[in-house]
Amino acid sequence: MANSEQRNKLQISVTSTKDGAIFHLSGFLDENVRFESVKVPPLVNLIFDLGEVALINSIGIRSWVNWMKSMRDRSFTFRNCSKAMVDQINILDGFLPPGSFVESFYVPYHCDNCDGSEKVLFRQGREFEKGTADRAERVAPPANVTCVKCGGPMVMDVIESKYFRFLKYRR
Ligand SMILES: [Zn+2]
Repeated sequence: MANSEQRNKLQISVTSTKDGAIFHLSGFLDENVRFESVKVPPLVNLIFDLGEVALINSIGIRSWVNWMKSMRDRSFTFRNCSKAMVDQINILDGFLPPGSFVESFYVPYHCDNCDGSEKVLFRQGREFEKGTADRAERVAPPANVTCVKCGGPMVMDVIESKYFRFLKYRR
């Protein structure tokens, strides 16, 4: 038990690049998270790579929201958002700071043939466009997603009206 808790503890690495500071998070967003110990570089652009954030609970959510609020006057980009993150973005207004840019997120797919599952990356400007004040959001899934295990066709494994809700324009 102790070992699995260790393994799933949220790991955060920070890299300063010419594009900004890149935060890579992996593991569980829960009561063991200590965002206050993360050293945030004095850069305007903050990029969060969230592809490996696996599970979120209410204490983790509160820590996350407080952490976001503590970083004022920055530009926020969210990359490779996992399903766990997308679910929270949809549920909780204010989970991401105002004016955040979601660059890409994962969509779960399922193969009815072999029961396999896969995640497909949707990218802003390609598979989706967020709605704006004068243009509705757009989702353009890839025409075919093929199962790597059996070669069968895969189908999207989410309720689209719920999963893509966060793409709607909000004032
Ligand atoms: Zn399959």
